[in-house]
Amino acid sequence: MLRQPLLALSRSEQVKKLVSTLPVSSDIVAGYVPGETTREAIDATAALVDAGLAVTLDHLGEDIADAEQASANVAAYVEVIGQLSSRGLARRVEVSVKLSAIGQALPDSAGPGGGEKIALENAREICRAARNAGTTVTLDMEDHTTTDSTLAILGELRQDFPETGAVLQAALRRTEDDCRRLAHMGSRVRLCKGAYEEPESVAFTEKIDVDTSYVRCLKVLLHGGGYPMIATHDPRLIAIASTIAAEVGREQGTYEFQMLYGVRPEEQKRLAATGETVRVYVPYGKDWYGYLMRRLAERPQNLSFFVKSLVSKK
Ligand SMILES: Cc1cc2nc3c(=O)[nH]c(=O)nc-3n(C[C@H](O)[C@H](O)[C@H](O)COP(=O)(O)OP(=O)(O)OC[C@H]3O[C@@H](n4cnc5c(N)ncnc54)[C@H](O)[C@@H]3O)c2cc1C
Repeated sequence: MLRQPLLALSRSEQVKKLVSTLPVSSDIVAGYVPGETTREAIDATAALVDAGLAVTLDHLGEDIADAEQASANVAAYVEVIGQLSSRGLARRVEVSVKLSAIGQALPDSAGPGGGEKIALENAREICRAARNAGTTVTLDMEDHTTTDSTLAILGELRQDFPETGAVLQAALRRTEDDCRRLAHMGSRVRLCKGAYEEPESVAFTEKIDVDTSYVRCLKVLLHGGGYPMIATHDPRLIAIASTIAAEVGREQGTYEFQMLYGVRPEEQKRLAATGETVRVYVPYGKDWYGYLMRRLAERPQNLSFFVKSLVSKK
């Protein structure tokens, strides 16, 4: 019930200023983000890999203001991919990229072809570095105004880098159809519920409707020829996914589960111990504000803890 107001509040500059004064080491931030530096991200990743988990690393940043910031984010990805390679982690670790962090929303005046073209060229550079290191890229999905553009960029990228992963959000009414389009051989698709505040015209707003949409989408993806990446912490949906996978004769390793860093870590290890591939999404970097607010909005029980952190600034 608190989700929409919290997401709306997170757009206030005053709230952003106040929250951003929290150190990344404060319990509330550190619970979701292992650190701001590449080093901290790689150390957290190595520990997860040692525990039998796979990882996708997200260099935090969204809605950047100019092409220079976009280039800096690309450089951060190329750097972390290099580190994955030199630490021998590239086989178990891929990267997740938000197109808005690498230029998608920049205006037409930002360069020939505008923001979309800049984001595509930047994404190509990250995909090239990933392929050279022996790993892959997944394009995160942002709010519904970006879905068409993101899927168009994905289509272009997949011509040269067919291993590039997509994300679809069960909350959107269009997603079952998008799943049908993307459930083909070689296509990696992460299915999540969707973390953004969306209007009823394009999205299911009741939890039960999002959950039933998730199950319909799961069926399409698990029956299809691609590689489904089942991103949820919801115990019912995890059980349903396992049941459908068994019903359609999917072997372990032909799909994977994904969860966020810091959320249900014991369940991550339990599932991995049953032989499932479990990938943990590890976000890192200085620009953690938007990510943190979406996580808090998902779990309003965190709110009193959050307010206490702000008051004590620890
Ligand atoms: C690997 C991964 C990648 C994602 N990528 C995207 C993306 O690209 N685009 C996008 O829009 N969304 C993305 N999401 C977020 C997703 O859309 C949901 O907002 C989020 O996963 C919460 O939904 P849920 O399926 O876990 O179900 P919920 O019903 O929200 O949660 C189920 C249970 O999980 C636990 N839980 C869930 N969230 C939290 C939390 N923040 N803190 C503590 N406990 C929690 C609680 O026990 C809760 O009862 C991603 C999620 C994952 C796991």
